[in-house]
Amino acid sequence: MHHFNYRNGVLHCEGVSLEAVARELGTPAYVYSDATLRRHYRVLADAFADRNVLIAYAVKANSNLGVIATLAAEGAGADVVSGGEMLKAMAAGVPANRIVFSGVGKSEAEIRLGLEHGIFQFNVESMPELHRLSRIAQEMGKRAPIAFRVNPHVEAGGHTHISTGTPETKFGIAWHEADAFYDEASRLPNIDPIGVAVHIGSQILRIDPMRAAWEKVVSLARRLRDRGFNIQRVDFGGGLGVPYKDGEDPDSPTIYARQAREVLGNLDVQLVLEPGRLIAGNAGVLISRVEYIKERDGRIFVILDAGMNDLLRPALYAAHHEVLPLRTPAMGAERRAVDIVGPICESTDRFAKDRPMPPLKEGDLVAFMTAGAYGATLSSQYNSRPLVAEALVRGDACVVVRRRPTFDEMIALERAPDWITSG
Ligand SMILES: *Cc1c(COP(=O)(O)O)cnc(C)c1O
Repeated sequence: MHHFNYRNGVLHCEGVSLEAVARELGTPAYVYSDATLRRHYRVLADAFADRNVLIAYAVKANSNLGVIATLAAEGAGADVVSGGEMLKAMAAGVPANRIVFSGVGKSEAEIRLGLEHGIFQFNVESMPELHRLSRIAQEMGKRAPIAFRVNPHVEAGGHTHISTGTPETKFGIAWHEADAFYDEASRLPNIDPIGVAVHIGSQILRIDPMRAAWEKVVSLARRLRDRGFNIQRVDFGGGLGVPYKDGEDPDSPTIYARQAREVLGNLDVQLVLEPGRLIAGNAGVLISRVEYIKERDGRIFVILDAGMNDLLRPALYAAHHEVLPLRTPAMGAERRAVDIVGPICESTDRFAKDRPMPPLKEGDLVAFMTAGAYGATLSSQYNSRPLVAEALVRGDACVVVRRRPTFDEMIALERAPDWITSG
């Protein structure tokens, strides 16, 4: 369910014509829908209305300040994986005591930042991290509320690159060593082991593997309680998928919520969820202009002004995005198989191969659908292209929530060494 629809033959985001956005902002640009973001958050929040739940939006899916602020206004917490995300979440209005800090490589400075602000929870992923956290907390005279992220040895996720719950991945502590980790945590100064966490992957369409992982986590929580630990929280992670193609039909948030309730049973804990893609995925599109149509060796290349630096998912995960023309094609217009590519000097700068598309010509505009998650956050300035602009729409209003840097701004961050300039 999203708010991108054709009106009078032009693709709109809510009440705003995407052609108008392209004119105002230039292309490429991401456009997000406020109503869609809020709706996805509410569906999940409503499903747990009668439970003590913290929905910690996974900021890495879309870390635009405007997007985080929209969700914070709905009451969302944040799941962050860096000090930068933590600061952004707080700048966007997420209270520190609703921030979960995940990730395998938390630096000293990042740990200090979390302790200084009194975040909700550190999701700890290794013994050395636990020891570092204890030492720093002691130095600062703070207590660190922690959950261990367990690796439940369950396979899931839309692509091997986004599966995180198996022994070969770097994530979490070994499932069978969990008790020993909690014992160590209870011995260390300034550590409060108060939760158990898991996150097994992303773009999960069928949630049965989540059930297996959650059941392990819940049984661990029960066992730890029996052993005298004060376990108050269970964190089921994120990972629920969204449809990228027609016919792709992921399990719904309602089914997901039902399963979570079933697995929790009567365990009186606060439930923590870390949805990212589910909330931001189809709340955003990337709009782009056709630069050239190039025909060669029997192939048709539609060369866009968006590249893999703006939308990396196809190159990184062989991901599929629907590409729609901003104008509805003429009735009966014949589709032709084309390769949709960007301007970047890499062969992987290809968004689609042999994709049947209605007629496109130089100057036409297209939209990559379902680009709200892992789109702008993965963008770069590769080929010295300015970071892609982002806009947020609410009803008939559209605001630029990240402007494109100027070339002067980009160049100002760098310098030639003195030994050249003074020579
Ligand atoms: C990436 C991530 C999430 C969010 O995953 P989605 O598939 O976007 O829901 C949640 N928790 C952790 C620890 C993550 O790394």
